[in-house]
Amino acid sequence: TERVFELRKDLDIRINGKDLVNPVTSFGHYGFDNLLIQSIQKQGYESPTSIQKQAVPIALSGRDLIAIAKTGSGKTASFIWPAIPHIMDQPYLEKGDGPIALFVAPTRELAHQIYLETQKFAKPYKIRTSVIYGGVTKLLQCRELKAGCEILVTTPGRLIDMIKLKATKMNRVTYLVLDEADRMFDMGFGPQVQSIVGQIRPDRQTLLFSATFPPNIEELARNILIDPIRISIGNTGS
Ligand code: ADP
Ligand code: MG
Repeated sequence: TERVFELRKDLDIRINGKDLVNPVTSFGHYGFDNLLIQSIQKQGYESPTSIQKQAVPIALSGRDLIAIAKTGSGKTASFIWPAIPHIMDQPYLEKGDGPIALFVAPTRELAHQIYLETQKFAKPYKIRTSVIYGGVTKLLQCRELKAGCEILVTTPGRLIDMIKLKATKMNRVTYLVLDEADRMFDMGFGPQVQSIVGQIRPDRQTLLFSATFPPNIEELARNILIDPIRISIGNTGS
């Protein structure tokens, strides 16, 4: 409608895909329960950023998403928040199970940062979040993963190692996030990312976040996403 069109224009959101999903204007419109709203309020955020206004309702609708927005625009919360109801909707959480949500990031610094951010919102629900990356002894990570988790934050290489060691299983993953996809490819992780995605059930929901949208990321998106909605915020050249 006219109003949605104007809102996207105000927010500098470009969007394409089939059967689009409307943006929201405030946290109250997400339909989150109080526990999540309280955690968001605790952050002192006044309103969702442009990307959050549009990406969160898309993610909540179950659709695949390509989101292009520059650094600092609030992409992390855009995939963490919808993961919470996605996980809480599962019939029940078993002790030794592999993750339901998998967040893949290019560097250990970024993985750690995403982990800390995720904890703020997952902990009140007793959703277990684990993080793994290279440069840390595999023994402890193996032990932690074997205990089970609902959210796993990882770099590509270490996850492949852990799967080989049978420390975790991908059979429960229905919510897959590739964060900083462009950097992941620049760093040469393309083949690892492809291998990970190939081990995850095809009925998953896939969300791809990137600051830029070069041809290699476009090709990846074509191969691993189903009927995605693509959004870009501001002037990203995409
Ligand atoms: P990106 O992944 O797009 O680079 P981040 O998710 O790291 O951006 O967020 C950048 C900063 O903005 C972080 O410090 C985060 O806490 C903050 N932030 C996220 N969402 C909001 C919001 N709705 N209001 C204010 N600050 C926010
Ligand atoms: Mg980010």
